[in-house]
Amino acid sequence: MSFNFEIGNRSDVGRVREVNEDYFGSFHGNFGELLVVCDGIGGHKGGETASRLAVDVIKNHFEKLNADYDVMRELQSALSAANNKLVETARQDRSLEGMGSTAVIVLFKDDIAYTANLGDSRIYLVRNEKIKQLTTDHSLVQQMIDSKMLTPEEAKNHPKKNVITKSLGREGEVEPDISEPIELHKADKFILCTDGLTNYVKDEDIFAIASNNPPQQAAGKLVDLANEKGGSDNITVQIAEVKVDIDTPTESSKKKKLLFYFLIGVVLGIAAIGIFKPDVFNLKFLKPVEPDSTKTNLQDSSSVDSSANLINRD
Ligand code: CA
Repeated sequence: MSFNFEIGNRSDVGRVREVNEDYFGSFHGNFGELLVVCDGIGGHKGGETASRLAVDVIKNHFEKLNADYDVMRELQSALSAANNKLVETARQDRSLEGMGSTAVIVLFKDDIAYTANLGDSRIYLVRNEKIKQLTTDHSLVQQMIDSKMLTPEEAKNHPKKNVITKSLGREGEVEPDISEPIELHKADKFILCTDGLTNYVKDEDIFAIASNNPPQQAAGKLVDLANEKGGSDNITVQIAEVKVDIDTPTESSKKKKLLFYFLIGVVLGIAAIGIFKPDVFNLKFLKPVEPDSTKTNLQDSSSVDSSANLINRD
């Protein structure tokens, strides 16, 4: 079984901010299918620049690869390259100092999905009537939840909620979370989003909207819902639905089909000639035998020599 992907996406500035510092992209090539969502940090110009640069560098990294590559290693390399680019660019332009970006990536290759994450953007998977968060936030509140200092409920309104512990644009090597291979199932929905969505829209609402709508409509409805509930941040959603490929005929199967129809044609042609021009084949239809009225087919019972069937009792 092979798969294709229906992709929907929407990014919105929200109701409060003036600039959309989120950025996303979906790309197709020899490398497979690549989806990226980034949430820029560092003030208007910095945030906007950082998320765009990150998506570009990640895309360019995969476009340069041959079809046969180690996905997990290249996800690490792509994020390292994006990190270096951000650090380098900020070094050259003082107005971009301090810029950074989150990054979430889903990469589909050979019927397998891989995810990578840095920061507090998220990836969810909707499968078998359930939603699962595939990524763990790199955030201060997540660390506090992990060490039992906070409950997930308390974390939702925590003042340090926006502090992230990992991102692109920092000196040193990046340490993204890269998933193990995830085998694709028909109708899987992978949802990538920024915190502008998840700060307002509950997981169960993401599940319901993603389950009941095609990807493009779902992305639009999710952004609308985040805006209805406040929209204080930029909101970006990207959804990929896994679809099963309908087999397209290969060249050899096309040739076989043509040969089959050709043979059928030949057989029908010969049959037609046989019917309308039997002489061609020196065929003569047998004439039905005229019944001879002078003879009867019925045997006169009196004339039957039944002696053969009679057992002589004497
Ligand atoms: Ca954000």
